[in-house]
Amino acid sequence: MFTLPDLSLLRQRALNANQNDVLTAMGRGAGDIEALATLLSPAAELLLPQLAGRAGEITAQRFGKTTQIYAPLYLSNFCNNRCAYCGFAANNKIHRRKLTVEEAVSEALLLQQRGFQHILLVTGEAPAKAGVDYLEEVALALRDHFAAVSIEVQPLEQHEYNRLFKAGITAVAVYQETYDKEVYDKVHLAGKKCDYQYRIETPARAAAAGMREVGIGTLLGLADWRSEGLALGLHLAWLRKNFWRTSFTVSFPRLRPAAGAFEPFSTVVEKNLSQLIFALRIFDPDVGLVLSTREEARFRDGMLGLGPTRYSAGSVTSPGGYSHEDHEGEQFSIGDQRSITEVCAAIASRGFDPVCKDWDVEFQH
Ligand code: SF4
Repeated sequence: MFTLPDLSLLRQRALNANQNDVLTAMGRGAGDIEALATLLSPAAELLLPQLAGRAGEITAQRFGKTTQIYAPLYLSNFCNNRCAYCGFAANNKIHRRKLTVEEAVSEALLLQQRGFQHILLVTGEAPAKAGVDYLEEVALALRDHFAAVSIEVQPLEQHEYNRLFKAGITAVAVYQETYDKEVYDKVHLAGKKCDYQYRIETPARAAAAGMREVGIGTLLGLADWRSEGLALGLHLAWLRKNFWRTSFTVSFPRLRPAAGAFEPFSTVVEKNLSQLIFALRIFDPDVGLVLSTREEARFRDGMLGLGPTRYSAGSVTSPGGYSHEDHEGEQFSIGDQRSITEVCAAIASRGFDPVCKDWDVEFQH
């Protein structure tokens, strides 16, 4: 079972780091948690171009020129939880909707026509509306149309993940949102998500169920981003050690405007997000790093080849949003509004290969 250790000593060491320590940490290689703390330090902020260069070298070695492209497909925005930062929170008066299996398939086929081969199914946490039976039905209807179908839904039990794996789901994303327990308790006001420990153990349950890939992440803007980076590194290293057959990804969503008008507790500017991405790439050369359409097009384009390996594109964050023009009931507003064609063209124009599928569908059955 993963339990987050006290980070104060590591944090203190990082605060005292100087630029020589940062240069040493850059060369110390993968998996060194003290080096990660140094790479996240204020001293490392002054060496951002050097960090970018090292992260770029590692990304080129491990991933070549490829950038994977995916789209989220929102199935339902019903939610029993009250997360202070989220537009789907139970107390927000928004238009609620759950797609039927037929509607889900027709939204998915629209995405397929636009060129997507990898989709991420998203729901709020309302098992009575969008539980395992429903997810299984949707997965079975979609499995033969896509190279990869992933989920970002409520935390499930291992046997439930196993059921969904058999139905064609091969990847699970479940973000801790914040590893800071005090902040976690402050922003999770009602519902099952209030259980910090159950959530932190969820990636392990998904991996133990045989999922091919598991994604973890933090929502930036809730707690100190340097500490979140350290906690992510520790969680990732623990998962790798215990589930060596599973691939892992890390996401760094920054808070976006949403219903409820939540004000972030901390400011995370692009420079900070870049440092976090560079540091994690140096810490774990093989981890997939996700940069979603929450970020502006200019920033996403600028980060190509410097750490991120997976981009969403053409995203809509409301159920049925690909078929309808109005995006009523969206989870948050997006930063990069470009279509998949525009995103792929921007990636190609910088010398990278946008890849809409990540492995052949024949290999997953
Ligand atoms: S973050 Fe997830 S669990 Fe929380 S309110 Fe939004 S949809 Fe529900």
